[in-house]
Amino acid sequence: MNPHTIFADIVAGRAPVSTVYEDDDVLAFMDIRPFTPGHLLVIPKVQAASLAELDPAVGGKLFQVGQRLAAALRQSEVACDGVNFFLADGVAAGQEVFHVHLHVIPRTSGDGFGLRGRPTSPRRPDLDYLAGSIKGALSRN
Ligand code: AMP
Repeated sequence: MNPHTIFADIVAGRAPVSTVYEDDDVLAFMDIRPFTPGHLLVIPKVQAASLAELDPAVGGKLFQVGQRLAAALRQSEVACDGVNFFLADGVAAGQEVFHVHLHVIPRTSGDGFGLRGRPTSPRRPDLDYLAGSIKGALSRN
């Protein structure tokens, strides 16, 4: 896969960006097609197309910065009564830009944003079976 993305250009200073936060590892900026006003993206400066390619320490920083941004959004002029975090990892998950990014989405009631999806009601043995499979995979990593 071509590792070049618009976010690499943003990190390199080659594309326009409205930055709200920056440190050695992480950049946060306004999404150009916001779901709600104030919608932010937090990205690692290092190139990583997917979570599997990202140093977990930097992944942790994405969440830390997202947490600070959520607090800042609530105290800013952005209409914000709640916040959603969203991260699409992989095409099937809706990822369009292949440079890891955490969406930080300010919410107000009736803003129209939401995840489509209907909860199901699996039986406990089915939950236990999949829990075992995931635990097994965890122990191999
Ligand atoms: P995803 O579907 O999770 O990969 O989301 C990609 C996000 O990147 C979308 O919300 C886009 O609006 C946003 N985006 C794409 N290009 C830019 C850009 N140049 N500056 C800011 N946000 C962008």
